[in-house]
Amino acid sequence: MTRQQNTESTADSTALLTALEGRDCRHCVAGTLVRTQYKGNLAVCCPACETPQAQLW
Ligand SMILES: [Zn+2]
Repeated sequence: MTRQQNTESTADSTALLTALEGRDCRHCVAGTLVRTQYKGNLAVCCPACETPQAQLW
């Protein structure tokens, strides 16, 4: 069986950020990732070390 995948929509990109939101930061032990804006782009950042984990251009 072959499944069709819809991986190229902006909705999926937003879902990626949503999926990362609330995860533990990979760069420090204190941070939990939150959805924010980084340099005008939608992004997921750690508020503790301020490292962006993912962002949409
Ligand atoms: Zn961090």
